[in-house]
Amino acid sequence: MTREREQLLREMGLGPVWKLRARPAAAVPPEDVAVPPPAAVAVPAPELAAVAATAAPVATMSWDELAATVAACRLCPLCEARKQAVLGVGDRNADWLFVGEGPGAEEDQRGEPFFGQAGKLLDNMLAAIGLKRGQDVYIANAVKCRPPENRTPTPEETATCRPYLERQIELIQPKLIVALGRPAAQTLLQSEVKIGAARGRLHDYRGIPLIVTYHPAYLLRTLLDKAKAWEDLCFMRRTMKTLKES
Ligand code: URA
Repeated sequence: MTREREQLLREMGLGPVWKLRARPAAAVPPEDVAVPPPAAVAVPAPELAAVAATAAPVATMSWDELAATVAACRLCPLCEARKQAVLGVGDRNADWLFVGEGPGAEEDQRGEPFFGQAGKLLDNMLAAIGLKRGQDVYIANAVKCRPPENRTPTPEETATCRPYLERQIELIQPKLIVALGRPAAQTLLQSEVKIGAARGRLHDYRGIPLIVTYHPAYLLRTLLDKAKAWEDLCFMRRTMKTLKES
């Protein structure tokens, strides 16, 4: 391992990679396991109709209108248990857009994405490539309200919330989008994604280059993949350099 690599891993707060032993047989990344859509939560048809009805206005909203609409949104069951909707945070003219899954307990309390442990790791990952939350970086989530018990949002929930994320992307016009984890990647790419297969190459979101990497919360649980996360960070940095030069 090069010194630079060791240094970056330390800056990410991920420690030295060589301390880890062989990957246990059962340690298939949960993000790579195809999860059947949960059957329990079904968005009632009238609410889906409401999503369709709001899609056009959302697509033309200003930031203020979008923020107010998201704050008052009751289009899916996630609104029932939330303290507040969490729109996103950062530079609204950022070149970098990071998209996570959905707010957790701390984010629901604070109203800001990635505030807890996963957020600290995300901040360290940003720092490792010379970035800082709020400075040329915007952070958003696939769903704006906390899924109860921090469960993965259902496909219905991400579909209902998607127009908000789409409008954020149109307003920000980032040079590069980074999807953190499977739900974010699937929401943005509108296809089945396995992180292991999707990472390491450029995808396309409506003409904007998109990179898929592991969710910081997954990395906190699965240190085995920290070296891959480091590779992804380097790939992001290289890609942005190229985008800025072209
Ligand atoms: N995990 C996410 O995906 N988003 C947050 O805002 C916090 C944790």
